[in-house]
Amino acid sequence: MDLQKRTWADIDLGNIEHNYKMIRSTLPEGCKFLGVVKADAYGHGAVPVSRKLQEIGADYLAVSCLDEAMELRNAGITLPILILGHTPAEYVNVLIDENLTQTVTCEAKALEYSQAAKACKGTLKIHIKLDTGMSRLGFLCNGRHFHQGVDNILRSCSLPGLYPEGIYTHFAVSDEPDPESIRYTHEQFNLFMGMIDALEKEGGLTFSIRHCANSGAVLNYGETALDMVRPGLLLYGYGDGGRLGLRPCMRLMTHVSTIKIYDAGTRVSYGGVFTTDRRTRMGVLPIGYADGLMRCLSNNCSFYSNGGMAPQRGRICMDMCMVDLTDLPDVNIDSLVEIFGPNADLNELSKRAGTIPYELLCSVSKRVPRVYLDSSVQGSINGI
Ligand SMILES: *Cc1c(COP(=O)(O)O)cnc(C)c1O
Repeated sequence: MDLQKRTWADIDLGNIEHNYKMIRSTLPEGCKFLGVVKADAYGHGAVPVSRKLQEIGADYLAVSCLDEAMELRNAGITLPILILGHTPAEYVNVLIDENLTQTVTCEAKALEYSQAAKACKGTLKIHIKLDTGMSRLGFLCNGRHFHQGVDNILRSCSLPGLYPEGIYTHFAVSDEPDPESIRYTHEQFNLFMGMIDALEKEGGLTFSIRHCANSGAVLNYGETALDMVRPGLLLYGYGDGGRLGLRPCMRLMTHVSTIKIYDAGTRVSYGGVFTTDRRTRMGVLPIGYADGLMRCLSNNCSFYSNGGMAPQRGRICMDMCMVDLTDLPDVNIDSLVEIFGPNADLNELSKRAGTIPYELLCSVSKRVPRVYLDSSVQGSINGI
């Protein structure tokens, strides 16, 4: 069977390029661009996305762990790569050999990395991570922890075998528009700048790459761009990307495999949670929760077809779900259906699932083949 005949995800690398250029155009002169490609580039495929980013001039990539970084190196990606999470010190030789940059989140880890780097007679490139209010990873530095934080970082960065190239922090609510979130983000940014200042004044320590702007900050807090920005979701055209004219890169597609006519009063799918209230023309789509279409969306979403939006009915099964085509007479067997993409809003679908676009993108499972297109080369890609 033609893979594309079941369910697949079109990935338009031309839209990655478009989004990259649009985001770049908002940045100050000389600001570097780091593309976040963790979690298989938010489900888009880390290797093809990274190749594209490397080709169009991105400066840096970020992944969550060593395995993700090695996937890129093994595919020939030569850009610097920042590992955002922890790497056990026993892999420091690999980090050094593969030119990978390791995040350092506390003095104890700096010590371990330093010893391992000395043992293999190399220098490990590191970025210091500050916890300015996310309360996840990073040197504590708020309030009474400020001076301790400065001391710990100065000691960490003076250890042999480490080259502190960068310093960064992560915003917790830069994508939230309410006044309290705006206040909190400013507080995080001011603390970040205050620490950088103190490190220079008290220890003469400077970093060539200071970075903090995730997608929310790129959109809402231009002043946080500093030496490099670090967007993920925005690069893929989701979130509030529409405000910058960004385009979704992934279009999750399926087709109508079967159509049946049921009388009123017919129960549909597991659990019988939906009963037809009229003579109903019901289509079966070969996509279910094993493909990433979350079961919690059952009876609470609709998908785009050539006739308009088709309401989904009954429980979403592992491999299939049903849609009501009664009012869409032009939709037939083999008609294409867009689950999300340029015509069916992922933000809306995420809200209905009680989650965020990130989770739905990451949920598109490995059973769903990614089909790569490039609208920057081929011109516009046909719609439904
Ligand atoms: C995931 C991640 C990002 C990207 O976040 P978006 O909201 O997708 O832009 C940036 N920085 C860090 C540390 C991250 O973990």
